Amino acid sequence: MALRLQGGDDAVTDEEDGDERLHAMRHPALLDVGDGGKPRYRRAVRFGTSERTARPPGYVALAETRELGRRARRACELLGPRCVVCPRGCKVDRRADVAGLCAVGRHAVVASYFPHFGEEDCLRGWRGSGTIFFSGCNLRCVFCQNHDISWELRGERAGPERLATMMLELQAIGCHNVNWVTPEHVVPQILEALPLAVGGGLRLPIVYNTSAYDSVDSLELLDGVVDLYMPDLKLWTGERARRYLKRTDYAAVARETIAEMHRQVGDLVLDHDGLARRGLIVRHLVMPGLLDETEAILRWIASDLGPGVYVNLMAQYSVSGKVGRDGEYSEIARGIRRDEYEQALSLARKLGLRLDPRSVADGRTLTT
Ligand code: SF4
Repeated sequence: MALRLQGGDDAVTDEEDGDERLHAMRHPALLDVGDGGKPRYRRAVRFGTSERTARPPGYVALAETRELGRRARRACELLGPRCVVCPRGCKVDRRADVAGLCAVGRHAVVASYFPHFGEEDCLRGWRGSGTIFFSGCNLRCVFCQNHDISWELRGERAGPERLATMMLELQAIGCHNVNWVTPEHVVPQILEALPLAVGGGLRLPIVYNTSAYDSVDSLELLDGVVDLYMPDLKLWTGERARRYLKRTDYAAVARETIAEMHRQVGDLVLDHDGLARRGLIVRHLVMPGLLDETEAILRWIASDLGPGVYVNLMAQYSVSGKVGRDGEYSEIARGIRRDEYEQALSLARKLGLRLDPRSVADGRTLTT
């Protein structure tokens, strides 16, 4: 079945093969509201061959059998009377709009949504990954590069209709996927929005872009819904996780959740255009002076998940958040050195892991 946007009578296909990225950036609002309030598109973009011929994502069938709606209702039960959407288990009832540590109550807060060209090549393609950045977070990473939206709430409070419209807008401007960034604390809200988005014609693969500090209950409700899981496995030891993430059980939780993600979607599958269609991408940020953490993580991936797992060994650590402020966390208040990245890379290669090529190239640009 061809992957198509639903269009109104005046729907057209972009006739230019030229710079589709620019086209997407210049046309941020391509939706009309048609009869009955359903969104329709005034303009569509040209899809690649493999996108046109791809089978619809699994969530479409789940919506047709109403299973998606049942999942959303079950997910909303996790919100209260004691929230168990994530492993923190805050004693708050988010159904009554009371917020826990993540600072988000009944409705999701979206910091921004746009076609992102900084993601992995297999996600950004040539028209961008359709990122939706959720505000709030269930971790407190001291080196967070997005601390302005994760430690504080910033952005638009978005109910299900608004969230669905965001997903449809990203599809309408040609993004290759919908990429939920920091979704751990808003799984029920996303599941509430998804049937509306499917009803409006959403057919893109869904990326779940997470810290891996998820609850297995939430993940089970996403089985068959998410096409691509992208956990960022940050640290291995409880002591480092307590110091830098403020959560001693982080690694134990992350190992369990990533294993569950892998069980659901398997190894990464690319289509003929090199775009990610399904599977697991594990990110790991190499940190200064913490190569023993990197080594333990890479060895676990190879031995427990298998060398077929796609790994993005990231070199872009920078001093952010609380690091370096008033002399705090001074041991990680520097960038990583090229030799540190090379050591991590060499181990990953020895273990036979499938590495993201762009991050490897980025690592080579480190100057010291
Ligand atoms: S999702 Fe938020 S409120 Fe719920 S347990 Fe996690 S941090 Fe607490």
